[in-house]
Amino acid sequence: MPESLDRRMRRPSSSRLSLAPDEMRRLGYRVVDLLIERIAGLEQSSVWTGAARSETERLLREPAPEEGRAADEVLERAVRDVLAVAGRIDHPRFFAFVPSCPTWPSILGDFLAAGYNVFQGTWLESAGPSQVELVVTDWFRAWLGMPESAGGLLTSGGSAANLLALVTARESLAEPDAAGAGVLYLSDQGHGSLVRAARIMGIPPSRMRTVATDGSYRLDVRALAETLASDRSAGLTPLCVCANAGSTNTGSIDPLPEIADVCARERVWLHVDGAYGGFAALTAEGWRLLHGIERADSVALDPHKWLFQPYEAGCLIVRDARALGRAFRQGGDYLQDVQLGLEQVNFADRGLQLTRSFRALKVWISIQVLGLRAFREAVAEGMELARRAEAHIRNATHLELLAPASLGVVCYRYRDPVMALAEEELERLNERIQDEIVSSGYAMLSSTRLRGRYALRLCILNYHSTWDDVRGVLERVEETGRRLDAPLLGQRPG
Ligand SMILES: *Cc1c(COP(=O)(O)O)cnc(C)c1O
Repeated sequence: MPESLDRRMRRPSSSRLSLAPDEMRRLGYRVVDLLIERIAGLEQSSVWTGAARSETERLLREPAPEEGRAADEVLERAVRDVLAVAGRIDHPRFFAFVPSCPTWPSILGDFLAAGYNVFQGTWLESAGPSQVELVVTDWFRAWLGMPESAGGLLTSGGSAANLLALVTARESLAEPDAAGAGVLYLSDQGHGSLVRAARIMGIPPSRMRTVATDGSYRLDVRALAETLASDRSAGLTPLCVCANAGSTNTGSIDPLPEIADVCARERVWLHVDGAYGGFAALTAEGWRLLHGIERADSVALDPHKWLFQPYEAGCLIVRDARALGRAFRQGGDYLQDVQLGLEQVNFADRGLQLTRSFRALKVWISIQVLGLRAFREAVAEGMELARRAEAHIRNATHLELLAPASLGVVCYRYRDPVMALAEEELERLNERIQDEIVSSGYAMLSSTRLRGRYALRLCILNYHSTWDDVRGVLERVEETGRRLDAPLLGQRPG
């Protein structure tokens, strides 16, 4: 660094909050080293480290220190006692919930955005960053095949995107009088964040309809049409139909074209929750599977899932971007300087947050550096691994497929083909298998319930995961099941 720059950074104030440039640089490099060490050692580390509240209290409970401590010691302690006591969501054998594995350029993007202290609420305060958010959301729009009139914003995640979508749907109702009485339609595989959004919006359970799904966990379009018709004839106003483009449970994709037909006929807002699955549109196969998504009035996406971005990064794309402004724009005398004309977008007018971080930067940097092709290949690879997992499960004598691979998800369980265990026994056994594998640190697994049946669930989205990782987990489930099953059977009467 040129000396003049160093001199400029040595501010005249003597605030205790500022560090000398050399110290800043040293600590910054230290953090980079810590992160590289972590990422390089991921595979060798345990996939999950949990702790009871009593332990974490003992480690961390203390009054805020009045005087500062040595930064290296604080960093070391943060790594050892805080950051290490958690799941390693980007471990190649983390297959629970919905994993995430950010790329290095995207991590640097978050670092840069924080360091530049971007206020991404108004154009006045962030013209360049706001333009990048326009560009990135427009990339997403194009990937979904939505018209150029569509636009959106980045959010904290899919939950926020879903909430904003439902509010936008309500504020866009042709009959504003009905805004307080609209009915919401979800499939029985709909994400819990939609139910929570409804609660936040004050939509009571009496105005929510859970529409059944078929044998493949896809929304039953006829049941939807009937429910809509019966609500209409009861004088109710449909508010929004929520369809899944990758349900969290099974990865199922609702029949989007048929649902879009129903919504067009009934003039009802169609929201597609693609938080987990939407970025499959980057691949040829995913694009085919998601056909119809381009007809949605709004789509929720989660770049922090299948676009390999660090938390937090969600996104809402709305077919008519102006609907967002109508739903959320709000004045404030102290903001009178920020209206710079229609061309300039104030992202604060499109959602919940006034102060917003520059989430688009990480997406933009990572795609610029790595190229979109690398992302397409990584998504396709996840889908391919899920398909191979399904084939492996079908061929394994002691595994039972409960839902075929869809996008990156497969559901299955251990089951002895000969011993007819009762459902509760199977559940207890599979729970124990999962507990044992998780506590061994080898892999992180999670379960779900499909039509009441306990299911183990693999969600494969990590570009570090290989077939050996997936196969290793499936083999371990089978082995563990056989071992646990034997004494269990011994205890059985007769
Ligand atoms: C993850 C997920 C959400 C919630 O998104 P967050 O980013 O966790 O807030 C909503 N819907 C689906 C289908 C999801 O997979």
